[in-house]
Amino acid sequence: MRYIDEFRDPDLAKRLIKEIHKVAKHEWVIMEICGGQTHAILRYGLDELLPPNIELVHGPGCPVCVTSLELIDKALIIAGQPNVIFTSYGDMLRVPGSNGDLFKVRAAGADIRVVYSPLDAVTIAQKNPSKQVVFFAIGFETTAPPNLASVAQAERLGLDNFSILVSQVRVPPAMHAILGSPHNRVQGFLAAGHVCSVMGYWEYPPIAEQYHVPITVTGFEPLDLLEGIRQNITMLEQGQFDVTNAYSRVVTEQGNTAAQRMIDTYFESCDRNWRGIGLIPASGWKLRDEYNRFDADIQFNTGDIQTKESSICIAGQILQGIKKPFECPAFGTLCTPENPLGATMVSAEGACSAYFRYKSSHVNS
Ligand code: SF4
Repeated sequence: MRYIDEFRDPDLAKRLIKEIHKVAKHEWVIMEICGGQTHAILRYGLDELLPPNIELVHGPGCPVCVTSLELIDKALIIAGQPNVIFTSYGDMLRVPGSNGDLFKVRAAGADIRVVYSPLDAVTIAQKNPSKQVVFFAIGFETTAPPNLASVAQAERLGLDNFSILVSQVRVPPAMHAILGSPHNRVQGFLAAGHVCSVMGYWEYPPIAEQYHVPITVTGFEPLDLLEGIRQNITMLEQGQFDVTNAYSRVVTEQGNTAAQRMIDTYFESCDRNWRGIGLIPASGWKLRDEYNRFDADIQFNTGDIQTKESSICIAGQILQGIKKPFECPAFGTLCTPENPLGATMVSAEGACSAYFRYKSSHVNS
């Protein structure tokens, strides 16, 4: 039996840091894609233990942060309807839309409930046959199987009062968008272990080859991250553009094929808007036509939405590794976790909230 403590061992961490200092001879910019990894890096101060020539930038891997403003506004409209019970993970309630958030809609009388599993939303639908129950199905590849499990369960139970508002996004198209941008600074990637536990990493070698970036799959504990960084820098220094796996206790190249089959059964690829970044072709999933009855976007037909983003928020640039949170003029002053202007300050995985929590010395005064 292996325990988490083993992956936080200070002596092993010191050895890895020493090796990183030894191997890192040039300046490199490495992006961790996942917001969970961003928080772990900042919480354990790993960025400050690296040599000064290694810069970590923080990618668009926080699902709450990248859910488009249009979908947040649709959620506000649907949740505000009288016969609806709107269910969501807790973080989404505080994400600002064009005019307020789900908390505000709830304060105005809407029935909005926090759930810890999409299946809880199905149970609510079973218990409330006269209401339409909607689950806000956000997330990357990791959440697709549990979100779809709710659709499968509702289908099995023959429910006609359950639907999901889908905001599923995928990592590889986002990597293409970042690497293909004229503003790109990223030279190496740390790929998110939980995403790869579902999808494997078979999609990554063509990206590494096309853009000449090494990609290392890694986890969330300090030793996972340090080993991932070490492998990535080693490849950068050797001019090697491969994919390595520093999280082999969880991830295989093929991933969870049963989960991938489930995704293929219910979802098809679609273009998606990423908040602050814009439209990324084929970067999302939506329900296939035969499951339209479970698609809240279709069932509620919210139509075209005119969105209004905060003019100050630079979250889009942060999520592409172009800027850091403390470069935002609102960071820590106009924008705080209590009064967030952008989603990256709300989420437990957002880069701005991580900097606010762990790097408060950078707060503007
Ligand atoms: S600090 Fe607030 S306003 Fe600035 S980028 Fe982050 S979320 Fe947006």
